[in-house]
Amino acid sequence: MSTALVWLRNDLRLADNPALFTASKQHDRVVALYVDEADDGLRPTGAAARWWLHESLENLARSLAEIGIALKVEAGKSRDILPAEARGLEAAAVHWNRRYGPKERALDADIKEDLRTQGIAAHSHPGNVLAEPWTVETGQGRPYSVFTPFWKTLRGMDIEHPSPAPKGKAKRSIKVDNGYKQPHWAGKLGQHWSIGEGAAQERLAEFLDESVAGYPEGRDFPARPVTSRLSPHLRFGEISARQIWHTAHAFIHAHPGKAGAVDKFLSELAWRDFSYHQLYHRDDIARVPMQAKFKGLHWRHAPAQLRAWQTGMTGIPIVDAGMRELWETGYMHNRVRMLTASFLTKNLLVDWRQGEHWFWDCLVDADEANNPASWQWVAGSGLDAAPYFRIFNPVTQGERFDVTGDYVRRWVPELASLPDKFIQKPFEAPAEALSKTGVKLGDTYPEPIADLKQTRQRALDAFADLGAND
Ligand code: FAD
Repeated sequence: MSTALVWLRNDLRLADNPALFTASKQHDRVVALYVDEADDGLRPTGAAARWWLHESLENLARSLAEIGIALKVEAGKSRDILPAEARGLEAAAVHWNRRYGPKERALDADIKEDLRTQGIAAHSHPGNVLAEPWTVETGQGRPYSVFTPFWKTLRGMDIEHPSPAPKGKAKRSIKVDNGYKQPHWAGKLGQHWSIGEGAAQERLAEFLDESVAGYPEGRDFPARPVTSRLSPHLRFGEISARQIWHTAHAFIHAHPGKAGAVDKFLSELAWRDFSYHQLYHRDDIARVPMQAKFKGLHWRHAPAQLRAWQTGMTGIPIVDAGMRELWETGYMHNRVRMLTASFLTKNLLVDWRQGEHWFWDCLVDADEANNPASWQWVAGSGLDAAPYFRIFNPVTQGERFDVTGDYVRRWVPELASLPDKFIQKPFEAPAEALSKTGVKLGDTYPEPIADLKQTRQRALDAFADLGAND
């Protein structure tokens, strides 16, 4: 009887899991292993994502048990645990799906070599992105640094079809104790999410049926529930990008009138692959600015302002709404992520790494590629980044994308009774309008911690000094 060990990482699903599929096809017995790898010098998972992970692993363990596969969860160094488990099981092979960060790749390569030296076969498979990062190349065989041509190339590629879930062999009874401590706010996150592979597939189907038609126009309006909210499912691989791609194409086939809307959605999904492209080809994107000149920027040390930003107390309603949505739900709408990140890095001139770190801890979809790449994009130091002089004005953005203030009213209830005209800028409301609605600036709601016009100019000067417009 031959045994294989499947090392699960960001791929907590049964279907379209090439490592699991191949191991199940080639071996009589399969054991799955998840390692809590914080000790390996890898970036520790943030608190909100750990909550998701805990739930997701329990869910996966139940599904694996249905097909006779036990899931073991261990904490420690994978370079010790993997070979020890493989030896203990007398496994002939270990399979895993690839990951793309430099440290992760180096670790995986070491483990592969170690296993092979011990006579255990080690196989890595593609499964976490639409196309392996090194296969999407410019005409000169180089990585892309601009999204649009990247997308043009990617959409013309044959994206591999998803593999089915392995067939069940025998049921097993399971007990999962993955030992994770729940962050203290975890209880409330559960109200907002259904976790696991089944929930991810349902979310995709519901999104295509009900929302995708309104996606291109509605995706920028944070009060409209038209985006897919698949990001945490993708983060943990409860659904694969390839499954989304092929389901979306089948949907286009059945509903050709919605092809344009689905295409827009897939182009956003392709940004995820573009982030992984950057993670793969660049050096530590969570620490190192991708444009070298940004290394010379003098960020401000402003702990009180950083704290006001983190806690949604900046006095700029849409920024505060976003930061409070993040804290309450582990998620923030994309447009508001851009606004809050721009406010921190441009108006407050606080280092993007501080914001990235906060998002990393609070987002259930905190992703090693998307989070740093997006922060660098907003800060201006990223690839294909917003030009440094594009500094979002959060008030005019609020007036444009949260026209009647529904989003602000939901997350900043102390402003809920303000008329639409002042909901994005209570600091411009006449005293009478404020007193009628019970808003006392500096008391029930903060005065703005930054003057938007002055701080915009300060940022422009700092970025121009850097030669950011060269
Ligand atoms: P949809 O609009 O339905 O898009 C579908 C999928 O496409 C998303 O789930 C995501 O995987 C991908 N996608 C969409 N937009 C982007 C984008 N701009 N960049 C990369 N991928 C995208 N996304 C994360 O998954 N994890 C993060 O940690 C993360 N941090 C971010 C930080 C900042 C400062 C900014 C500006 C953006 C960040 N994003 C991140 C990208 C984006 O905001 C989220 O992917 C999106 O809001 C998730 O919601 P959704 O699933 O409903 O998106």
